[in-house]
Amino acid sequence: MTKYVFVTGGVVSGLGKGITASSIALLLKSRGYKVFMQKFDPYINVDPGTMNPIQHGEVFVTYDGHETDLDLGHYERFIDEELNFTSNITSGKIYKAVIDKERHGDYLGATVQMVPHVTNEIKNKVYEAGVTSGADIVITEIGGTVGDIESQSFIEALRQIQYEKGSNNTFFVHCTLVPYIYGSNELKTKPTQNSVRDLRNMGIKPDALVCRAPYDTGEAIKNKLSLFCSVPVSNVIDSIDVKNIYEIPINYYKQKIDEIILKQFDLPIKKANLDYWKDLINTVNNLKEEIEISLVGKYVELHDAYISVVESLKHAGYKYNIKININWVDSESLESTNNLKEVFKNSKGIIVPGGFGSRGIEGKIKAIKYARENDIPFLGICLGMQLAVIEFARNVCGIKDASSTEFNQTCENPIIDLMSDQKSIVNMGGTLRLGNYECTIKKDTLAYKDYKQEKILERHRHRYEFNNKYKELLEKKGMVFSGINEKANLVEIIEIPNLKHFIACQFHPEFKSRPTRPAPLFDSFIKASCGK
Ligand code: GLN
Repeated sequence: MTKYVFVTGGVVSGLGKGITASSIALLLKSRGYKVFMQKFDPYINVDPGTMNPIQHGEVFVTYDGHETDLDLGHYERFIDEELNFTSNITSGKIYKAVIDKERHGDYLGATVQMVPHVTNEIKNKVYEAGVTSGADIVITEIGGTVGDIESQSFIEALRQIQYEKGSNNTFFVHCTLVPYIYGSNELKTKPTQNSVRDLRNMGIKPDALVCRAPYDTGEAIKNKLSLFCSVPVSNVIDSIDVKNIYEIPINYYKQKIDEIILKQFDLPIKKANLDYWKDLINTVNNLKEEIEISLVGKYVELHDAYISVVESLKHAGYKYNIKININWVDSESLESTNNLKEVFKNSKGIIVPGGFGSRGIEGKIKAIKYARENDIPFLGICLGMQLAVIEFARNVCGIKDASSTEFNQTCENPIIDLMSDQKSIVNMGGTLRLGNYECTIKKDTLAYKDYKQEKILERHRHRYEFNNKYKELLEKKGMVFSGINEKANLVEIIEIPNLKHFIACQFHPEFKSRPTRPAPLFDSFIKASCGK
């Protein structure tokens, strides 16, 4: 029978609830349990796919083609498990399912209400995660802060689960803030007391508190929190500020959070295997050199818009003992600059990640041209690959008006064009080419050297594709199409072999990178950039 851990948040947002949930999952996995993770987002969008990256950050794509909250990326990187369609549930998804059922007549004439119809739908999503993953323990993070209007139906559903499944099968972790007040020079417990009271008002009794504080709260504070919040003192866990987020699971391990959960679940406490994680912490804390990589994009004002790309660069850096410093380059402002040498003067590599729409694309093309002409290691991802091909067509093959129909619908030379099965689509949400598709890699190419195998699976999120009509011409001028999706005859990877390191892919390798196992294309890009 699946067991459920729920992680709620109180007082303020941004306490690191996602990292707490992932750390708990990592510790339980390290003790031999199969874990799975899920996030509830109370907003009304069905998924974050149509949200502006500058507002909401990156859209993380699961292998089965779902566009999800960027927290799922943190989860996958921490627990090294692939998540799926049950992993990101929004209010929009729940309401849509309920209304679709109502229109279909599934409620047999009943008046459709928040309780039980909406809450049943939410509960089903929790149980579905357990069934489809086959996990021993599902860890669910509830987005937002307890007391928010939007999350009330989720909290009510969890109350019902706590009642139905009992405390042997459910465990509630409540993350709160214990602030330090200057002047009186002490830590304060009142915000936590109030937040736990809010939770109890909604019928949920927390089993553990995770208290974000600037330093260890100490015995007196823990005793006070225990008394006022009816939580055993051993279950009041400190979450102190750390330099390196990978230390957080180890901090919780020392406070036995995993043992406390397993005891409540009546599950055996098997030996934890955390050596690999401790090695990672050691590596990250002792990186020997540093290099700068330029990331050229139009969403650079919110670094979270590129979070998986940045994490993947770091992962590859860990492998080569190198700290990666990002030079954030706004592609739009690059359009009016002629001194690219100045912009890229300290950079050992240039990366152009994914993006949508025409704003800033000429700036990205300029950066790609600069990388190609100066033989600077280059990695292009999705839009980055499309623009690398356009740049090559324009400046090497002489097709001056080469473009994509995404930016210019009537262009004469659509090097990048809409996929034929996309032409009739009107709805924007969930209709891109999404998730895992196979790519066949040509032998004796850089891509083959990176992946060391012929068939790979990578995650996608795009609507446009390389137009095969131009393939022969580009090949003649020295571009190699080293990865192809054979089923649909779509270009997946391109490279220019007469340069040191110039490669780009239509898929998103950043979604599969792990701190202890960098994605092959990031690995080789950083290797080339640091000259190893
Ligand atoms: N805008 C491009 C497309 O839809 C690239 C998408 C991306 O970079 N994720 O094909």
